[in-house]
Parts: sequence; structure tokens; C-alpha cells
Amino acid sequence: MTSQRHRAERVSAPPESVEFDADVLVLGGGPAGTWAAVSAAERGARVVLADKGFCGTSGATAAAGTGVWYVDPDPAFREVAMAKREKLGGQLQDRRWMARVLDQTYQQSNRLADWGYPYPSNNEGKSQRTSLQGPEYMRLMRKRTKQAGVTILDHSPALELLVDDNGAVAGASGLRRQKHDRWTVRAKAVVIATGGCAFLSKTLGSNVLTGDGYLMAAETGAEFSSMEFSNPYAISPAFGSVTKTLFYGWATFTYEDGSVVPGAASKGGRSAIARALLEGAVYARLDKADHDVQRQMRASQPNFFLPFDRTGVDPFSVRFPVTLRHEGTVRGTGGLRIVDDSCATSVPGLYAAGDAATRELICGGFTGGGSHNAAWAMSSGSWAGQGAADYAKQLGTTVRRKLSSAGTVALRNRSLRPFEPAALARAVQDEVFPYELNYFRDGARLDGALARLDAAWIGVSDADAANGADVLRARESAAMLATARWMYRSALARQETRGMHRRDDFPDQDIQQRHYVTTGGLNDVWTSVRPHAEAVYAEAAE
Ligand SMILES: Cc1cc2nc3c(=O)[nH]c(=O)nc-3n(C[C@H](O)[C@H](O)[C@H](O)COP(=O)(O)OP(=O)(O)OC[C@H]3O[C@@H](n4cnc5c(N)ncnc54)[C@H](O)[C@@H]3O)c2cc1C
Repeated sequence: MTSQRHRAERVSAPPESVEFDADVLVLGGGPAGTWAAVSAAERGARVVLADKGFCGTSGATAAAGTGVWYVDPDPAFREVAMAKREKLGGQLQDRRWMARVLDQTYQQSNRLADWGYPYPSNNEGKSQRTSLQGPEYMRLMRKRTKQAGVTILDHSPALELLVDDNGAVAGASGLRRQKHDRWTVRAKAVVIATGGCAFLSKTLGSNVLTGDGYLMAAETGAEFSSMEFSNPYAISPAFGSVTKTLFYGWATFTYEDGSVVPGAASKGGRSAIARALLEGAVYARLDKADHDVQRQMRASQPNFFLPFDRTGVDPFSVRFPVTLRHEGTVRGTGGLRIVDDSCATSVPGLYAAGDAATRELICGGFTGGGSHNAAWAMSSGSWAGQGAADYAKQLGTTVRRKLSSAGTVALRNRSLRPFEPAALARAVQDEVFPYELNYFRDGARLDGALARLDAAWIGVSDADAANGADVLRARESAAMLATARWMYRSALARQETRGMHRRDDFPDQDIQQRHYVTTGGLNDVWTSVRPHAEAVYAEAAE
């Protein structure tokens, strides 16, 4: 499967550009993208993978390291694993998908061991496979991707998708930032694995995650689901970007005057921190960790301590200011709607994986932390890669299709008004970061924010094309804006509190709303609801 025969072909292209002909194009080179590329290549497809950064070091996993939903196949363990988070997710998970993901994650984690991933062993010598260190994991995935014969385009953000005359997705084009030229890949199928959207909140590893894949997909008509569950906030030192929250389980949170913030905690008490931050500064000290725990913390998550070591703060003895950083869909559950087991989207030829896809099927309305996202990335990545390869095979050797560019905003000249990416990004952040708008939601406040975001969309949708390096920033800020509008339109459609979606004006869960909210559209953003699978069975049984 790794022979030269399966390599994508470089074809002749106009000056200052490169062009490839492939079966499958994967956009994004995090865990989801690399698993997709390897799986498609293993099916015999000729694959190109394009990443905005350097594949293997870019994105949320490479910078951090993740707990993985790796559970022994014993049915009793599996039952506990599935039942454990159903309430937290508002009972929106789908048991069939949870079982598939558990199986696939178990299998792929064991493959990582076969490939040489250095899992640690416990005192009895048993290999521990419930977490992965980002740098080692992603270095290995890059190596396997190359060995599978995949052509990797590093520092090559995709800007827009290509479609054929029937509207099927048939490739993409983008920038080669280090060569200052453009790339185009004609492909029979495309996997979007560009991660989530964290709105440039500086959360660890996430500033490359601006929702680009969502915008590109929406321009071809793709739909989204569970976008209302996109408001996780993670604790971080106010002077750093490390949003690893586990260790705050050992923290005491205090106001400026040193008194304890009532109810504040990392788990189950984050809203108390958010409310206190609305009034003023909040501090933490990890004073509940004894010497043994402190030692273990340093050994298990060394990068947690980077901002402290850099600033000379000992977090166990000195209190330090904290903030809550918005993580959008990176640790939310919204994303592109999946329509079948192969992770196809609602657009022919387009597949989605990882944080770019909705995680509602295994997480319902809540992820936060806790290993499901990593499991989803490796499982959905594998299925999307296989699905895209099968789709490409079924298309066969088609006559060279006539392709057109699907990109809209910031790519075509429409008026004489310049596009201002930095100002737009700030305007979006002003609507999505404030706790009183996004953490604690309310119909009137959401309406106001959405009206301002809709007005911003009208403003940029007829602005001129951005030039040079600005075009990437312009597309990123437009993608953030589009994501915020799907997020708030969906939040307005869900008139209850469920999962991570909290409505001050509808504080209770409503049994009638155990459904999914679908959204989409660019100029006109719409929503509709789809029943949850179990609700359909229950109705049929009545
Ligand atoms: C601090 C932190 C801790 C976390 N801990 C856990 C945990 O313990 N357990 C867990 O399950 N999950 C955890 N997560 C979530 C987990 O990291 C993500 O779910 C996972 O990284 C998703 O993988 P992905 O491949 O979809 O996206 P990413 O890993 O984010 O990769 C996306 C890739 O797409 C590329 N890209 C973006 N835009 C473009 C474009 N226009 N063109 C081409 N490429 C593009 C990026 O450069 C990047 O390489 C954590 C997240 C954070 C931020």
C-alpha cells in the first residue's frame, strides 16, 4: 500500500502555483487528518494532506497531549464508560456510535503501540493506553502518514473548495506560505479535518483553529449540528495560554481581598468563577496538592508549569490571577453534520472528521475534558479517510471534470471597500468572549449579539478581496464570524438548559427538546431540528 504507485501526481500548473491530481485530499494534519490520510492511503487512494502549519506540530493535540477514551472491551466496562457521561451530555448521545467509537479507538490505540508509540507501563508492567503525549503522538502520525505514501503540503492553508458542475466537492486550493505561491489539488473526495474554532482566544495550540473548514464547507452547502454546545471556557493563568484544567481540582479560588469564592471549582464550579470574574479579579493557588501530588503533576503534565516557570511563580504556594478562556468548538461539540457511518457530510464528495465534525453522537451537549475528543478524532478520521477513498474508487476514472471555485467572502472583488481582518476578528471576539453573552445566555442578549454579527456579515460579504498575506487573515476572521452566527442562531433555537448550553431565561431541561439543532447558510442563517434516534424509537413503539 505504500508504493510509489499510489502517490498523488504533480501536474503542470500556471506560474507561481503547483497543482496535484489525487483521489483524496485531506485538509488539516492533526490527529483526525493524519488518521484520515493513512486510512485513505491504506485503501489504495492517492492522497494529499495540506496543513496550515507544519503537520505534526500544529493544532490542539500537538501542543498538549490528551486523555483517550480507551476502554477494555469487557461489556461491563464499556457499559460504565457509556453511561458515565450521558447525563452531563443531556442524553443526546447515540449508544450505537459510542460503541463504534470505543471499538475503533481501542483498535487504533493498539496500532499506535505496534507502530512504536512509547506507552508507559504500570507497576504490574501493563501498558497504559489512556493518554497520549501530543508531541510524540503527532511525530509518529506524521511519520506514518509519509510512510503511507501521502504527499504532505506543510504551511499550506486551504482557502476554498472546488466543486464540479453537479455541486460535488472535487478539490481545494490554498496558499504555500513559505514559497509565496498557491496550490491546487484536484481530488475525487475531500476530508475536512481543520479542527474547531477557538476564536483566537489564545487557548493552548488553538490559534490556528479559526473555523476555516466550516466556512469552506458552508460555501458548498454543508450543514452543521449542535452548534449551540460551543461555549466551553477553560481555566488558565491570566498571564498564560495553558488551558489544562485538571490540576485546578487542587486549587483554592479567592477574590482580590483573599476571601474564598463560594462554590468555585474546576469541575462543577466554573460558573462561580465566571460570575466572580464579572465582578473583578479571581486568584487560584494549588494549595490542596501535597508533595507527592506536586511531584506527580510535574512528571505527568510538564507543560502545565511553563507559564509559571517563565514568570517565576510557584503555583503551589503563591496565588496567581486566573481567567476563563473561550474554547469554542475545540472543546465544544458542534461541527459539520455527519450523515452516515463513513462520516460523509450532506454534500457529495465531502467528509468531516475530528473537531471539524460534530461530536454530538458520542458527547451529546458536553465535552469539556475527558478523552472523548481524542477518541473521536482517531475514529472519525479513520472512517472519513476510508469513506472518501471508497467514494473516490466508485467515481472511477472520470473524464477530467470542469471545476469551479466555491469560495466567496474575501476572495472576490465586489466593491471598493477594503476588508479589515484584524478589526473583524476583534468585533467577533467582543460578541463571543463575554461571559454574560456566551457563558450565561439569555434570549434578549443573544438577539442583540446576533444582530451585530449579522450586520458585520453584510459589511464583509461585499467587501473587496484581500491581497497577499492578508487573504488568510481575512478568510480566518470571516470563518470566525460565520461560526459565531451559527452558534448564536442555534443557541436561540434551543430554549432550555442542556449540556453546556445554559439559558438564564430557560434554566431547566425540557424533555420536549431532546433533539438536535441543525444550522447552516451564510447570508441567511437558518435552523431546524432533527429528532434524537431514541425519541424516534420511543414514538414508534407507542
Ligand atoms: C488544552 C487542551 C487540552 C485538551 N485535552 C484533551 C484531552 O485530554 N482529551 C481529549 O479527548 N481532548 C482534549 N482536547 C481536545 C483535542 O485536543 C482535540 O479534540 C483534537 O486535537 C482534535 O483533533 P483534530 O485533528 O480534529 O484537530 P487539531 O488537532 O486541532 O488539528 C487541526 C489541524 O488543522 C489545521 N488547519 C486549520 N485550518 C486549516 C486550513 N485552513 N488549511 C489546512 N489546515 C488547517 C491546523 O493547522 C491543525 O494542524 C484538548 C484541547 C485543548 C485545547
